[in-house]
Amino acid sequence: MTSARPFNFAPGPATLPEPVLRQVAAEMLDWHGSGMSVMEMSHRGKEFGSILEAAERDLRELLAVPANFRILFMQGGGLGENAIVPMNLSRGGKVDVVVTGSWSRKSAAEARRYADVQIAADIGKTGVIPRDWALRDDAAYVHVCTNETIDGVEFHELPQLATGVPLVIDVSSHLLSRPIDWSRVGLAFGGAQKNIGPAGMTMVFVRDDLLGHALDICPSAFNYETVAANQSMFNTPPTFAIYVAGLVFQWVKGLEYAGKRGLAAIEQRNIDKAALLYGALDASGFFKNHIDPSCRSRMNVPFLLKDDRLNETFLAEAKSAGLLSLKGHKSVGGMRASIYNAMPLEGVQALVGFLKDFEARHG
Ligand SMILES: *Cc1c(COP(=O)(O)O)cnc(C)c1O
Repeated sequence: MTSARPFNFAPGPATLPEPVLRQVAAEMLDWHGSGMSVMEMSHRGKEFGSILEAAERDLRELLAVPANFRILFMQGGGLGENAIVPMNLSRGGKVDVVVTGSWSRKSAAEARRYADVQIAADIGKTGVIPRDWALRDDAAYVHVCTNETIDGVEFHELPQLATGVPLVIDVSSHLLSRPIDWSRVGLAFGGAQKNIGPAGMTMVFVRDDLLGHALDICPSAFNYETVAANQSMFNTPPTFAIYVAGLVFQWVKGLEYAGKRGLAAIEQRNIDKAALLYGALDASGFFKNHIDPSCRSRMNVPFLLKDDRLNETFLAEAKSAGLLSLKGHKSVGGMRASIYNAMPLEGVQALVGFLKDFEARHG
């Protein structure tokens, strides 16, 4: 099915697969003969129960989440987790944070309210993930943001930490774009609105042994042990967002690309999309991405124009060409193309064609 809609490169909330949007529209007034939209159902009824169960099962299968990890569907977003994680895991002790961009810097600042935080390493303006980390053996956990949405920095391999110290990863903007090596992870969290579905839902993957250590001040609704014991139903979960995410999981499971299927297909497509876009930027004398190729993000591609004064012209012309939301984050400037799972290869091809055309006319 070819789409007449423009390509949306927004960083989040972001583009969703068109077949999912069509299905949501078709099921809006009457979900599977229930006579209700999903928004109108009791979260404790059997209809929503089946939606939640399928969503969790599909997510677990797609990411091969081991049995000793609980999957929680929560509210509060990534920024909420910046407080919820230290309240649950720090025990008021030490937390080491590796700063690779804006989001991990924010995580460190928030965790300071609950724990003794040390910056183990800082990327600064180098554009490359630092190699040497000053880690403390007695830290409660180490926090890493595995895809920095604003800066366009991604870990392509998870660090192997000294035994005993759990790794916490903020996967908000690349969850479900690639497999996760769970043997190196204690906890992963991410909001839905970048790569999974509508805003309002946060997924937490937490290893069993990390449950049960929340600080007294932790709200019950944010206590992982309580949420896990109630199958994400301690309070009303974000039902509609879970439903849409469930359809996205189905969409990923069925996706075929380059002879692959499911998560392997989506990962290969993401690799190809990113290679196409970075290739075009590197070949150009007009556009530039400043991140080291070893840690460039497959999801978020920031780039600068040779002349900042052309930024407004670029955005206006891109919009006319059906390429939306390319403005970069204000802290970085320039442009940013977010090319999440739901962005088809054709969208990146259209962007690359536009970049060449723009350079030919203005370069
Ligand atoms: C968007 C984002 C967040 C914040 O998410 P909210 O839902 O706005 O709280 C945190 N971390 C990363 C890596 C993000 O991309």
